[in-house]
Amino acid sequence: MPELPELEALRIKLSPGLEGRMVTGCEVNPKNAHLLRYPVDEFVKEVPARRIASVWRRGKHLVFDFGERKLVVNPMLGGRFQLAEAGAKEPATQVFSLRLEGRQELRYTDFKNLGRIYWAADPATDVPAWADLGPEADAVSGLGLDWFRRELRRHRDEVKDLLRNQSFLAGIGNAYSDEILWEAKLLPLRRRASLKPADEEELFRAIPLVLENAVSAIVANPNYDESKQDRSFMKVHTRGGRDCSRCGHRISQLGSNREPLNFCRGCQL
Ligand SMILES: [Zn+2]
Repeated sequence: MPELPELEALRIKLSPGLEGRMVTGCEVNPKNAHLLRYPVDEFVKEVPARRIASVWRRGKHLVFDFGERKLVVNPMLGGRFQLAEAGAKEPATQVFSLRLEGRQELRYTDFKNLGRIYWAADPATDVPAWADLGPEADAVSGLGLDWFRRELRRHRDEVKDLLRNQSFLAGIGNAYSDEILWEAKLLPLRRRASLKPADEEELFRAIPLVLENAVSAIVANPNYDESKQDRSFMKVHTRGGRDCSRCGHRISQLGSNREPLNFCRGCQL
C-alpha cells in the first residue's frame, strides 16, 4: 500500500507533465465506476475544459487541483497512475482516464478495487476524515521538538499504532512505521508513556529522515515500477528472518506475510 514516500515520489514524477495542462476529455469505466464518490455522468461532464493548476499530496491522498474543484484520490492497496499515449489499449482495471491536450492520457487503474475517488469542491467537507488529518509526517522538523513532545503526550497508544494514526501525523502506514521505529531504535509495541525524552527525540529525528530518504531512493531509481512498489531499500520491513544490517541479529516478524510487523530485538529497545 503506498504511503507518503511512494505518493510523494509519484507526485514529483507526474506533476511536471500535468501542471498547467488542459483536460479535454474524461472517461469512467462503468465496471469500476463505484470507486468514484460522485455521480459519474456529472463527473465526465464537469472535468473537461478545466486546467490542472497543480498536483499536491495530503497524507495518503493525491490531489489534482483544478482550482475551484479538486480530484482527490486515495489509491489504497491497488490504485496506480499512468501517463499513457491517447488511444493506447485500456487495461480492464482502468477506473478513469483524463485526456490531456497533447495526445496523452492520465489513467487511474485499480487492481484491488479499493481506491476512493472524490471530485471535491472542498476536501475538508467532501472527503471523509480529511478534516481530522494531522500535520504531514515529513514536516515535523519544522513544527519543532517541543510541539512533537506535546502532541505525543496526548496519546496513550503503542508507538507503532500511534505512528499509523493519521490524526497524529498524516502519511505513515505499516511499512514506514516499521522503518521509522528501527531507525529510532524503539520496539513497536512500546507504549508511548514509556518513552524517555531521549526516545522522543530519536523518534522526532527518525520520522522525516526515513521518509525523505525513501522519497530520494524511489525518485533516484530509474527502473522504479509503481505497480511493483519496490521497497528493496528498506532496512527491516518485510525482512523477517534476515540479519539486521545494524547489529546482525535476526529480524523478527509478527503478523501475516501480507501485513507483517518487523523489528529487530537486537538493537530496538
Ligand atoms: Zn538490529
